[in-house]
Amino acid sequence: MTAVPQTEPCRWGIVGGGMLGLALAARLAARGQQVTVLEGAPEIGGLAGAWQLGDVIWDRHYHVTLLSDTRLRSLLADLGLENQMRWVETRTGFYTDGRLYSMSNTLEFLRFPPLGLIDKLRLGATIFAASRIKDWRPLERVLVADWLRKWSGSRTFKKIWQPLLKAKLGECYRKTSAEFIWATIQRMYAARHSGLKKEMFGYVPGGYARVLERFAEELHTAGVELRTNCRVSSVVAQPDGQVLVDTNRGSRWFDRVVLTAPSPVIAQLCPQLGEEERRQHENIEYLGIVCASVLLKRPLATYYVTNITDAGLPFTAVIEMTTLVDPAELNDNHLVYLPRYAAADDEAWNWSDHEVQEQFLSALERMYSEFRRDDVKAFRVSRAKHVMALPTLRYSEKLPPLATSAANVFAVNSAHIVNGTLNVNEVLQLADDAFDRVLVPALGPLSSEGRGWVREGSVDSIVSHPARTDDLNPSPSPSLQGRGIAAEPAPTP
Ligand SMILES: Cc1cc2nc3c(=O)[nH]c(=O)nc-3n(C[C@H](O)[C@H](O)[C@H](O)COP(=O)(O)OP(=O)(O)OC[C@H]3O[C@@H](n4cnc5c(N)ncnc54)[C@H](O)[C@@H]3O)c2cc1C
Repeated sequence: MTAVPQTEPCRWGIVGGGMLGLALAARLAARGQQVTVLEGAPEIGGLAGAWQLGDVIWDRHYHVTLLSDTRLRSLLADLGLENQMRWVETRTGFYTDGRLYSMSNTLEFLRFPPLGLIDKLRLGATIFAASRIKDWRPLERVLVADWLRKWSGSRTFKKIWQPLLKAKLGECYRKTSAEFIWATIQRMYAARHSGLKKEMFGYVPGGYARVLERFAEELHTAGVELRTNCRVSSVVAQPDGQVLVDTNRGSRWFDRVVLTAPSPVIAQLCPQLGEEERRQHENIEYLGIVCASVLLKRPLATYYVTNITDAGLPFTAVIEMTTLVDPAELNDNHLVYLPRYAAADDEAWNWSDHEVQEQFLSALERMYSEFRRDDVKAFRVSRAKHVMALPTLRYSEKLPPLATSAANVFAVNSAHIVNGTLNVNEVLQLADDAFDRVLVPALGPLSSEGRGWVREGSVDSIVSHPARTDDLNPSPSPSLQGRGIAAEPAPTP
């Protein structure tokens, strides 16, 4: 293979305009690279995108920010939005044995009738124990159901944990490792221990539509080309070191390509993956979601999230967004999300929008005696097959490499988050880690100066600076040490 000597900044193609692809584009542009983002959908944002619901525009899937989401808050500060955020203390409900209970503080937890005192003590001890564990790797070798049964006992497992696991993972909970519950508990603990010792959730006025609008503006200023409605069909490394990308809008040549799409899509798009690598991408199991957004004239209840432990309801939780977001943001309407996390073989994938609406609204009638169908102003269904890679046993040992065996082609997607839950903060952290680890060694010469903005340090110390030539080959990010991204050889440009 002959590599063409580079005298110009590299042309980078990023496949996928979700938060990960956009974050990588920002980092590369700040280092003076020429970047094009190729997004198959009509809008950028991916799972964090916004859509029209009746007469309002809000997130297609419910999104909140935690106080401990420092990486995301840094980005929002870069975009000039962090100081506009609204922080609200929210309440949590439980729907159990046909009744709605509040579980928003310790007193309510102690009063919660479905569990006896011993069960409650064991449940509390389980959560505390998980919060104290620092080394997550041993938990990857134990099934979450076994670990929770051991700590909380069979009764509490059956009454609380099993329904909650089913709500989040469907039947896939049976093959999920204990790392999943550890990461979930760690995130909630971090949220409570940052600043105010309360669980505060935040949002940007205007929601992710506003965040993405500002992100796109900054990327344009930094010289990034954002191409929407541009579905990539293949990515092939050429003998001269360039990469040919075929899309529904013609072919493009790049010097480097980063794929941020889900792993099964990467396996389809890249014919040159090595056998082992292809198998690794194909073997990652994803959970999807069927998620209804319901715009209402009146509120349902007062809980941001209502966990459902009763069997037989077609959705797995009720998220009342307007207990957090000011209804004035939504023309004085109330917004409720009804998610159903679904494995690949879930029957819900075959339901039409009408069937989803019928089933979900009749379930709301059963749960809330005050709810009336006349209150529904708009109902819209989102379906996403690849939401979260399932953390199965020894998950971190089975991940495909970030630098693929096709020259100058990189595969970085949210499946590479190994010791965290899926959220935008983790995705941004992954972008930083992958950038330092595998993309920096592949950078081409800089244009006269980097354009755009780079985060350095905490949420309070955001600086913009031109790219420097002296830090093109930094040692791996220290944060990588604990994050389980496998060590990778530097790719050959
Ligand atoms: C119901 C739900 C609730 C959530 N709640 C929160 C929350 O409260 N807080 C939080 O921080 N996070 C939350 N998240 C998680 C957050 O949305 C994700 O972590 C994040 O958006 C993932 O970004 P990504 O870029 O990795 O992936 P994606 O958003 O999936 O982006 C991948 C992009 O690639 C594009 N693509 C795929 N194939 C191709 C192709 N062949 N050609 C071109 N483009 C292609 C897709 O269209 C997509 O835009 C939630 C997610 C869901 C689904």
